Amino acid sequence: MHNKVLVIYTGGTIGMVQDANGSLQPFALDRIMDAVPQLKYCNYQIDSCQIEHIIDSSNMTPSLWVDIAEIVEREYDKYDGFVVLHGTDTMAYTASALSFMFDNLAKPVVLTGSQLPLAMLRSDGRENIICALEIASAQEVCVPEVCIFFENHLYRGNRSTKVSSENFDAFHSYNYPSIARAGINIAYKRHLVLPQPEQPLVVRKQFDERIAVLKLFPGITASVVRSVLGSPDLQGAIIETYGSGNAPTESWFIDAVAETIDRGVVVLDVTQCKSGAVKLRQYAASCDLDRIGVIGGHDITVEAAVTKMMYLLGNYGSDRQKVQRLLGESLRGEISL
Ligand code: ASP
Repeated sequence: MHNKVLVIYTGGTIGMVQDANGSLQPFALDRIMDAVPQLKYCNYQIDSCQIEHIIDSSNMTPSLWVDIAEIVEREYDKYDGFVVLHGTDTMAYTASALSFMFDNLAKPVVLTGSQLPLAMLRSDGRENIICALEIASAQEVCVPEVCIFFENHLYRGNRSTKVSSENFDAFHSYNYPSIARAGINIAYKRHLVLPQPEQPLVVRKQFDERIAVLKLFPGITASVVRSVLGSPDLQGAIIETYGSGNAPTESWFIDAVAETIDRGVVVLDVTQCKSGAVKLRQYAASCDLDRIGVIGGHDITVEAAVTKMMYLLGNYGSDRQKVQRLLGESLRGEISL
């Protein structure tokens, strides 16, 4: 019996062609599969579909995450794995969002794309698609996770970040090793892969978009801090702090954050560093944040923090304590504890 994989095309450079002005625009799915003739010789079955309107991934939205998840949900029993073709710009956000939406995922969902369109001779897309398909269809190993495959590496999706707009190795996972590496063989590091769940898949589709990200920098003014944290109807805020979670200790700043928390907004501390973790109280410069009720984000990426916050507020928003508790727990391997 051959394994079966469903390719879900959402757009991105991988399928783009140049329009009359020379700008890259997404193009139809059949042309993409034609661009990889090697797939005719693979030993698994490939079917494909696409979201209603294919996009440059800078137009990605939570409602499109739901559309992608619903395709997986609808086709879940028919396929052994799924490959999502996606633009690189927001791929790490989509991978993170999908990872939270799929409770008890038992099959691989592998996102991939490319830096050069498949229509170009030197495209990196061919290798990426072929390896992603191989991983999604593998019979001997099953990776029951939402992952990103890019330039020889399989990363946990909610640990990944786009690091280059130019190089073929466009993604990296700073705080968790890659879970497989493609060389002559695809070498899986099984001990790094999430365990197979025992319960059936549940797809959670609620996101609360009323969140904000506040990136600190020396010289940030009280009016900028207050206008971001004071956004009407704000439910969650992510503060991108320095180092191990440090922030200015001046009273205008701490008071602004404390007032935000008093309004019922959940505030998460995420570091601007690419690697390493938030450790509240390691420095005096994070003690006030801890005292007023800011949650430490550990070593979470900003992409995972944004999507986890939207997901938790969307599903458990009426229970603030639960949202705060779950922000400190690893739900899908997104933080190291
Ligand atoms: N702008 C493109 C996108 O994210 C970039 C890419 O696919 O690499 O859709």
